[in-house]
Parts: sequence; structure tokens; C-alpha cells
Amino acid sequence: MRDQVGRSIDYLRLSLTAKCDLRCRYCQPEARLANISELDLADFLFFVQVAASLGISRVRLTGGEPLLKPGIVDFIGELAGVPGIKDIALTTNGTLLAGLALPLWRKGLKRVNISLDSLNPERYAYMTRGGELHRVMAGVYAALDSGLYPVKLNCVVIRGFNDDEVEAFADLTRHQDVAVRFIELMSFGEGTNFPATALVTMRELMDTLGPLEAAVQESAGPAKVFRLPGALGTIGFISGTSEYFCGGCNRLRITAQGCVRPCLFADLEVDVAELIVTRQFGALQSALQLAVANKPRRELSIDNRRMAEIGG
Ligand code: SAM
Repeated sequence: MRDQVGRSIDYLRLSLTAKCDLRCRYCQPEARLANISELDLADFLFFVQVAASLGISRVRLTGGEPLLKPGIVDFIGELAGVPGIKDIALTTNGTLLAGLALPLWRKGLKRVNISLDSLNPERYAYMTRGGELHRVMAGVYAALDSGLYPVKLNCVVIRGFNDDEVEAFADLTRHQDVAVRFIELMSFGEGTNFPATALVTMRELMDTLGPLEAAVQESAGPAKVFRLPGALGTIGFISGTSEYFCGGCNRLRITAQGCVRPCLFADLEVDVAELIVTRQFGALQSALQLAVANKPRRELSIDNRRMAEIGG
């Protein structure tokens, strides 16, 4: 599918559930979300079959926390069997990954992004409102030991919280083939609870880290990728706030409730839940084509939906 400005849309992000076992302060409200009805995995599978028939070849599972969805391991196997799907990736907080990394890889998961904002257990617990760092680290090591590649660590940098850990995160890449990615805090949903001064820009981070060598990006995406001289792993920067990366955007998203969003930042969404649950293949194809045709050229207005609902 090509959009109005010629971008080829081949990448789909599925927010499998808005529920999460962590309450990261920039992402989730403290109170758990009310129980809203969500698509089940059979619905998502049908949706991916339709999307693949239109040229979607890469899928990322996100949320909320996608590993909370019962049946997730077999679902990966089913996705891997959809004609046209070449790449399946996962974004997770890692709390359940220790026992799942290998089974997921065996079923066809290729890559994983693990959110990790601090290497300090107390800080981690504070930012996630109760998360246990050792569980995530067990997940990181399980991912590194499985065939999943690359393993990316997503770190949202927040001034006064973890900006003094940037070098420690970068050091992880020296002897381990891991991809650390620093993400700018986005003033979006719960991110608006932080003052503008909490933003640490990619430019500032690069100045802190000193000379970096350009590195090859393992997969297409918004990160600018470098490495410390001689390091095994890479360091990426995702500058969604200080710079737009709309020009290369190849994505479509669907929320756990079945709304297609052609742009992370625009209010625009198309509710296709009914078409999915009633298995209307042709009508769903048309709805997706329309969503792509209406994909904004660049971000328009930022609404107040939370990242957890859209899936980041
Ligand atoms: N639960 C999974 C996880 O923790 O990775 C997947 C969902 S989470 C919404 C996806 C990504 O969005 C995470 O890497 C998280 O750090 C990022 N994110 C959420 N809110 C953000 C914000 N306001 N600014 C920047 N990144 C944000």
C-alpha cells in the first residue's frame, strides 16, 4: 500500500491489550484502566491476514503488555504462518520474558524490544510503580540467550530521573551485542505529567556520550544508530519530540479495541472492530486502504490517548 505522499506502508503494530502489569509514570495512570472489551487473538489473526493481503509484511506486538495476553506463544506461531508475513517483533516490559523468550522464538518471533528505564532497582520500582528490576534483567538475559536478534533495550530518558545513567546504559553495548535505544520523552498522555524541562534531547545525549561511530540500522525504523568505538552493540536515538521522523513512516497501528490509527500522533482513527469480529475480509481491506490514503503527511495534533492504548 502506498499513501498520498508515496510512502510504502508495510509495517503493522498490534496493541494486543491496553492492560499492563506495570504503571510507568509517563505511560500509565496509577489506577488500572476500567475493563474495556478488547479484540481476542483470533480477531487479531484475521486482521493480520487481511493486512498481509494488502502488502503488510512486518508485524510488531505491543500494548499495554502483550505478554499478558493468554495464548500469546501459539499466536506467534499462527502469525508466522500467515502468507506474506516475514518479520514478527515484540515490544515488552520484560517482566514475563524469562520463561517465554525461547518458546516465542521457537514459534517464529524474530526480535524483541524491552523497555528498561533504569539499572537501579529502587529507581526502576519508582518509575514503574512497583516493578522488580531483577525480573526484567532475567528476561533480557533469556532474550540474549535465545535466537531473538536483535535484542533492543528501550530507555526513555528523563531529566532528574535517569539522565545520569546514560553512560551506564551505553556501557552495556561494549561487550554485549545488544542495541540500547534512548527515547525522548513525548509529551503525550501521561507524558504530559512531566515538565518540559524533563526532556533530554538526542543532541544532548550525543554530547554526553562523546564520539560515536555511525552504525548500520538492523531494521528500518525511526532510530538513528551509532556505536561506541570498538563496541559490540549499538546505541540508537529516537527523537520523536525534538525532530519529526514522519518522512520515513511506514506504519499502521491497531488498538486493542480495534481502531486503526495511521499516525501515532494524529487523532485520526477508524473503528474496524465490527468488521473484524464479523470477519468481513473485503470491507476490511477497503477500510485499511482508506486509512492509508488518509495517513497524515506529518503529525497534526496530539490527542490525549495514552501510549498504552495505542501501543507506542
Ligand atoms: N508494555 C510494553 C513495554 O513496556 O515496552 C509495550 C508498550 S509501551 C506503551 C511501548 C513503548 O512506549 C515503551 O518503550 C515505552 O517506554 C514507550 N512510551 C510510553 N509512553 C511514552 C512517552 N510518553 N514518551 C516516550 N516513550 C513512551
